Amino acid sequence: MARIKAIRGMNDILPEQTAVWQYLEGTVKSVLDSYGYQQIRMPIVEQTDLFKRTIGEVTDIVEKEMYTFEDRNGESLTLRPEGTAGCVRAAEEHGLLYNQTQRLWYTGPMFRYERPQKGRYRQFHQIGVETFGMTGPDIDAELILLSARLWKQLGILDSVELQINTLASNEARADYKSALVDYLKTHIDSLDEESKRRLETNPLRVLDSKDAGTQSVLSDAPSLMDHIDDESKQHFDELLARLDSAGISYVVNPKLVRGLDYYCKTVFEWVTSSLGAQGTVCAGGRYDGLVEQLGGRSTPAVGFAMGVERLVLLLETLDAIPKQVSQTVDVYVTSMGEAGNQAAMGLAEQLRNDSGSLRVQLHCGGGSFKSQMKKADKSGAQFVIILGDQEVETKTAAVKDLTEGDQESVPFSELANYLDGKLTDK
Ligand code: ATP
Ligand code: MG
Repeated sequence: MARIKAIRGMNDILPEQTAVWQYLEGTVKSVLDSYGYQQIRMPIVEQTDLFKRTIGEVTDIVEKEMYTFEDRNGESLTLRPEGTAGCVRAAEEHGLLYNQTQRLWYTGPMFRYERPQKGRYRQFHQIGVETFGMTGPDIDAELILLSARLWKQLGILDSVELQINTLASNEARADYKSALVDYLKTHIDSLDEESKRRLETNPLRVLDSKDAGTQSVLSDAPSLMDHIDDESKQHFDELLARLDSAGISYVVNPKLVRGLDYYCKTVFEWVTSSLGAQGTVCAGGRYDGLVEQLGGRSTPAVGFAMGVERLVLLLETLDAIPKQVSQTVDVYVTSMGEAGNQAAMGLAEQLRNDSGSLRVQLHCGGGSFKSQMKKADKSGAQFVIILGDQEVETKTAAVKDLTEGDQESVPFSELANYLDGKLTDK
């Protein structure tokens, strides 16, 4: 019988990698905690209409990337392709939005039917941050500072560039759209096929085109800055001033438009040149109209999402993973002889009782001294405890330091203290 395999583009995250994932997730959580953000957890499946109404009918996601199916009642459901829509739905449904502010985050799998390649998968993971109820550029700046702090803590700040733009108000953008369409129509023969199509459906996305011919047409295209409304202009200037005074470098990229319909005013991306074509590790922006569009009361909002797989890839590519991250065991307990074998489990338990932090692995399954030492080596532990009948008799353990090679005798009662001390010295 043919063996069943995982679905294309949906990856197993194996134990060696989960250590890196947990390191990344732990660092993100501690940064978010330090700004007072709270976690929200939403379902992975929502009504299809939620995504159609928020992301936009003529976006790549809704047109061709959603995993949509009918459940047993004939209701159309979709595996979430992103988190903002569900987060807004949940926050509105539970009354978290009115006369209050919210700073929320979530994490989990997202699903898009894309062509799988490096940094692009069909099940991938995001950590998303969304804030509600704040109109000013101060909260936009906070989100950017928070992400910059995260890159700094992860040791990758020098490898990511902040690109930023404003999409202005809906009215100004509509005004600009028609100017852009008029201009592009006069050069229609020089556009790539995809851009010709987008000209009809979602003209701003033409700015995104990688096609050389289209790009050269775009170099003389009208700019959104010529159509921007005063309020959006002021918002953008104040945001940039805040970034300047916080010492955050950025590049204003007038062609940055993002693929989703719901953004207005601020949009930004953190981009790396170290991952090839899939270089955006974090992306977001302001979406003041979305709550109202879903039937709620008008609520200003801004947020972003990071791609976990791309960040893990970046950490690996830059060799930025601290050595301790992949070390999951500190002490490996081996034993020999009847008394030694009997006492080993009790000693390992005692070590866990006496120390709050030691990671102790007990050798199970018997075997020769040599094979136990091999397992100890493979475990990555720095210390191995050797427990024979004589050690049980004298209530001392032989402790071997696998990195230094030396061995000492330590009384059982002092063992946890001794190991804790040695490990914190490192
Ligand atoms: P891209 O331009 O790379 O397709 P996007 O604009 O579709 O990205 P968003 O919807 O804004 O991306 O999602 C935010 C982040 O999630 C992206 O910047 C990226 O890091 C990550 N991401 C998006 N799609 C995928 C995918 N298919 N596989 C892995 N990560 C992804
Ligand atoms: Mg995409």
